[in-house]
Amino acid sequence: MDTNPALPGRSLAGPRTVYNSDHEMFRDQVRRFFEKHIVPFHRQWERDGIVPRSVWLEAGSAGLLCPMLSEEYGGAGADFGYSAIIIEEIARTNCTGPGFPLHSDIVVPYIADLATEQRKRDWLPGMARGEIIGAIAMTEPGMGSDLKAMRTTARREGDEYVISGSKTFISNGQLADLVIVCAKTDPSAGRKGISLICVPADAPGFTKGRNLEKIGLHAQDTSELFFEDVRVPVANLLGEENKGFNYLIRNLPQERLVIAVRAAMGMEVMLEKTVAYTKERQAFGQPVIDFQHNRFKLADAKAQATMFRVFADHCLALHLRGELTVELAATAKLLGAEMQNRLFDDFLQLHGGYGYMAEYEIGRAWADARIGRIYGGSSEIMREIIGRTL
Ligand SMILES: Cc1cc2nc3c(=O)[nH]c(=O)nc-3n(C[C@H](O)[C@H](O)[C@H](O)COP(=O)(O)OP(=O)(O)OC[C@H]3O[C@@H](n4cnc5c(N)ncnc54)[C@H](O)[C@@H]3O)c2cc1C
Repeated sequence: MDTNPALPGRSLAGPRTVYNSDHEMFRDQVRRFFEKHIVPFHRQWERDGIVPRSVWLEAGSAGLLCPMLSEEYGGAGADFGYSAIIIEEIARTNCTGPGFPLHSDIVVPYIADLATEQRKRDWLPGMARGEIIGAIAMTEPGMGSDLKAMRTTARREGDEYVISGSKTFISNGQLADLVIVCAKTDPSAGRKGISLICVPADAPGFTKGRNLEKIGLHAQDTSELFFEDVRVPVANLLGEENKGFNYLIRNLPQERLVIAVRAAMGMEVMLEKTVAYTKERQAFGQPVIDFQHNRFKLADAKAQATMFRVFADHCLALHLRGELTVELAATAKLLGAEMQNRLFDDFLQLHGGYGYMAEYEIGRAWADARIGRIYGGSSEIMREIIGRTL
């Protein structure tokens, strides 16, 4: 049996049953798109610190954005498996610049589930075409993990909200045309006073700060955002006022699964590349893989990546049935991100000095993977979530 994870339907743990043949056909299409429109340009985008808008439009016309969105609003009405395939291709090529999953699987679902009918019609078709790029702004300079401590406020005045405050570390922040801003509509009520409000990029008083310089994810734009008495219609509220925290909790499992799915594929692919490298690289007259220490490192890595593949696919299957719990999603994110970081560090070491060179994929993948332990809820917060169930 061929376990090459680069082949559709295969994994280190054997054939994958979580996908059907339509999914795999879609994978072919996504793979061709990446090879043509993303992989050849990604190194330049890393130098630019951002991807061009044109790749969003190309992805939109190729049907790679918002696969789960219903056809009525310009999506494909497909299941999360299609999104997972796009995430896996990002991991397989380590082309982390285009923030498609954040847009399609994190931002768009809030609007599709919670916006008014008019707002859905205003925004969703453009989001599926890649003309309107989405972002979500929770984190502020003074808080990230502790959402109830947020200081951005949205004061109601007649038919408008007036938003004041600032956000930071916002993915897609420079490119975003529409930002879901998490703000306090009842500042005295802690987490029960948070609302989600959509702010278009051209709203007066809304400015984008620096494209933040990071240690990895160099092609992905990450920004500060500032809101100075920004007025938006009350119709831009998502769902009900003061229910924002509940909506975030409801949608975060999918965000965490995105990170776990990416980790599973990343580990398989980087293992394969590291095995190839250590077979070729010679030291003391023999291939580096022939030293028992190195072979054992790779054997351990293979065993762990195999185990995580089974668990990640199990979580994916549960999510496809609508049964993924907050706890299991946190477990998948915690294990995937921590394991990926440990393994990538070993893989980099096995590449020696070349591992530290940006031209080698492992070095870039190592730096890119580091964020997995921090965003989407840090590993410590995942442990808190799991710990509460003990
Ligand atoms: C590249 C990048 C992209 C991002 N994209 C987005 C985005 O699109 N939108 C968005 O809103 N945010 C985004 N973030 C922000 C990210 O979600 C936060 O950085 C993260 O939630 C951690 O918050 P913090 O940085 O404020 O750390 P803090 O909350 O200040 O935490 C500092 C440390 O304390 C630990 N800690 C905190 N609370 C506890 C606890 N209860 N028990 C034990 N340890 C604890 C943390 O785990 C961490 O190790 C992004 C961040 C980065 C770096």
